[in-house]
Amino acid sequence: MELEKPMEIEILEQDEYNLRFILKDVSIEMVNSIRRIMMSWIPCMAIDEVIILKNDSPLYDEILAHRIGMIPLKTDLDSYKLPEDCECGGFGCPNCQCSLTCEIMNDTKNTMVIYSGDLKTNDPNIVPVNPNIPIVKIDSNSSLIFEAYATLGRGRTHIKWQPVSNAFFRYLPQIEFDDSKCKNCPDKCIVSRMCPENLYDFSNGKKPELVEDYWKKCTLCRSCEENCPEDAVKVDWNEKSYIFSIESDGVLPFDMLIEKTFEIFLGKIDEFQSDLEQIEVEE
Ligand SMILES: [Zn+2]
Repeated sequence: MELEKPMEIEILEQDEYNLRFILKDVSIEMVNSIRRIMMSWIPCMAIDEVIILKNDSPLYDEILAHRIGMIPLKTDLDSYKLPEDCECGGFGCPNCQCSLTCEIMNDTKNTMVIYSGDLKTNDPNIVPVNPNIPIVKIDSNSSLIFEAYATLGRGRTHIKWQPVSNAFFRYLPQIEFDDSKCKNCPDKCIVSRMCPENLYDFSNGKKPELVEDYWKKCTLCRSCEENCPEDAVKVDWNEKSYIFSIESDGVLPFDMLIEKTFEIFLGKIDEFQSDLEQIEVEE
């Protein structure tokens, strides 16, 4: 499949957990497919089975297992297979499963918090993203012993297998400020005062000016357009450009996430094409 025009990507900001970029020259359907693949189709690692051997904590076994399942784990997509694609048929083997254990006795006189960092893993690549996630508190002379098995899975099955916390996009805002219509309402320009994001600079004391990168913050609330008595502001958006944001919990690095997204996207297009051809042959 080839796009009419290659899509353009411009990175706005990136750190360990956030990525924001501008996508240009793509249809909204395509951007939404990218978002949905990221949230539902890219596999990541999560604990799927917990065997509780001793639980003196105040939480029921089921609640504890749920909390353990929701701990984000660093994912290694090269070494593990999805259980349904594994030779073992999903029964569980070193190619599709990683085991983690926790054995804590509290022999102090105080209550003790058990954290995600207390999980011991048999694969150093599959560890909790953050060691400081509290699992449960136990009283003195109590213990918690369990065994857990992590497997790859997809967000469409359960949210614990979603490799991003959130992925969303919005249109790229375009605001036109017509200087000739502005009557310079003395000292009380409603446009600059109404903007909740403070996108208008009024420091020159005369007419409001849009700040340079207003489009990064503008939420398209249109309060400036609706409140200007002189109709000097026109809020619009670019139909083919979007600001795309991804919030990650760190289970997969962003480059891997983007690479996998397009790998899955192209795979789905091929699958669709061959299904269509199949239908034509049958007819
Ligand atoms: Zn297996």
